[in-house]
Amino acid sequence: MSSTDAAAPATAAAPSSTQALVDPFGRAITYLRVSVTDRCDFRCVYCMAEDMTFLPRAEVLSLEEIDRLASAFIRRGTRKLRLTGGEPLVRRGIDDLVRSLGRHLKSGALEELTLTSNGSQMDRHAEHLFAAGVRRVNISLDTLDAERFARITRWGRLPQVLDGIAAATAAGLKVKLNCVALAHENAHEIIDLMQFAARGGHDLTLIETMPLGDIDQDRMDQYLPLSRVRRDLEQRFTLVDLPHRTGGPARYVRVEELGLQLGFITPLTHNFCESCNRVRLTATGQLFMCLGQDDQADLRAVVRRSSDDAVLDAALDEAIARKPRGHDFVIERRGARPAVARHMSMTGG
Ligand code: SAM
Ligand code: SF4
Repeated sequence: MSSTDAAAPATAAAPSSTQALVDPFGRAITYLRVSVTDRCDFRCVYCMAEDMTFLPRAEVLSLEEIDRLASAFIRRGTRKLRLTGGEPLVRRGIDDLVRSLGRHLKSGALEELTLTSNGSQMDRHAEHLFAAGVRRVNISLDTLDAERFARITRWGRLPQVLDGIAAATAAGLKVKLNCVALAHENAHEIIDLMQFAARGGHDLTLIETMPLGDIDQDRMDQYLPLSRVRRDLEQRFTLVDLPHRTGGPARYVRVEELGLQLGFITPLTHNFCESCNRVRLTATGQLFMCLGQDDQADLRAVVRRSSDDAVLDAALDEAIARKPRGHDFVIERRGARPAVARHMSMTGG
């Protein structure tokens, strides 16, 4: 990578290259999510339509471009980097990218490099991830019932994912399970999933469905408010609020009886935007300053136009200056209509 600093040609707009990225509301940007591909080997009902058309390869950032962009954010204060997708482990060369980004962990510039995966390919990658410095991964698991799993993911098979979870654990990775709460599919399975997670020493996070992208179904039909789930769980378990915050829309409790850390991601019923520290880079290099808004900055155009990091720095400043105060998801009012047109697989979860 080209270097950062004083040697770069100065322009009036170019700040010092290690200057922290801080938005107009005083929020420092310390967390970057990068979608490394829009492709996936599953077609989860809440995420994709069955006949998704994927992007031509030329539109997707190369691994070198991803590395350059992520490294620029790290230089400007990003401490936590999450690779996601689509399914990040179906991207060819992903192990090389992770190994390369791992240099920022070694230098101390980056605190955490992590990944969100559907687990299907994890058994082939877990050891590489650990060797590169990854210590935690999120793996999605919405059900423990093989038939239901096949129905929700359309193309996925449960044993593949259970093997992936076991492989990650065996490689030394701490696994957090992500479960999208679906009114008619897994509402009655949440306690089983909690027990499964507790037995395996995993954390579990429940996620409300978000109105992102056109899918083939009515989202209101799937929507299960986590406030209701929590109320039901409180009838049976002792839930102790934990102070742990990630800057995102997750809140955590400890389930005393199971010794489980349980998270609730409720972007619809609560709005935690005031502490938002994150931005998201799509597989095509669009930077979304808010998951729930359409405004974006085209960083692919910037990296393809110039190899000068001062130019990239100026583009980052311009983008972060546009980070909005918060999002506008209200599923009750929107019903089947998506709040934003893009799918979660594009922006990354
Ligand atoms: N393929 C990987 C996976 O499934 O974990 C990473 C990408 S996926 C888009 C990231 C997370 O977003 C997953 O936990 C998935 O369940 C969740 N997700 C996808 N679409 C969603 C939606 N419309 N509402 C809420 N969560 C969603
Ligand atoms: Fe693929 Fe993840 Fe979307 Fe499911 S949620 S279709 S695994 S990207």
